[in-house]
Amino acid sequence: MRKIGLIGGMSFESSAVYYRMINEAVRERLGALHSAEVMLHSVDFQTIVDMQKAGRWDDAARRLSEVAQGLEAAGASCVLICTNTMHLIADEVQAAIAVPLINIIDETAASMKAAGIKRPLLLATRYTMEHGFYTNRMAADGVDVMVPNAEDRTLVHDIIFSELCAGIIRDSSRQALMAVIEGAKSQGADAIILGCTEICLILDPKNLPLPGFDSTAIHADAAVAFALEGVSQGGKKAA
Ligand code: GLU
Repeated sequence: MRKIGLIGGMSFESSAVYYRMINEAVRERLGALHSAEVMLHSVDFQTIVDMQKAGRWDDAARRLSEVAQGLEAAGASCVLICTNTMHLIADEVQAAIAVPLINIIDETAASMKAAGIKRPLLLATRYTMEHGFYTNRMAADGVDVMVPNAEDRTLVHDIIFSELCAGIIRDSSRQALMAVIEGAKSQGADAIILGCTEICLILDPKNLPLPGFDSTAIHADAAVAFALEGVSQGGKKAA
């Protein structure tokens, strides 16, 4: 089994979800008490939030590149940045390491394309919804992403940073997100992208009025598929 390197802590609430999902998927695939070979470097999120707020993306790229290099040096066969937002600098991080960086945008796009989705609504941080790195990359993949209006983008962004990243789950916020989803549905959205790795803490993709694509689950699954390539059930190397 290949070792998975996770750059986490952004926030640690979602890194805990990744850790559980990856281990559960490996146990399910290999049986018995098998679990994943995982290395997690969890950063101090406030230092990253300060860089985001100041638009210091070059500093953030340098910081996450160093972390990725540390994971690679420690034996990781692949690296995941466990947040959609920080994929803004994913290409820089990939350029700093020799092992593959499993990209959350590409994996989510592939999963939607396989399901025939054409016009999904993106729920994410302001950076992800507004900076273009996400929507342009999806467009190159043939997926035409819809983003909420300005007022709703503020709502979603604030729920992510003031509540979900702080471990707070409010029913009133769930209802507010559902209203944004209903509005997008009436405007022709054909799916919902849970495009922030904490949104699965408040929305269950199975309980939405449109197909839900949870970036955390899709990303974790992609890591497991990579880690278990060539490994058969029972944990033995396939012939
Ligand atoms: N985890 C979030 C995401 O997927 C937001 C935290 C961050 O800004 O990195 O975008």
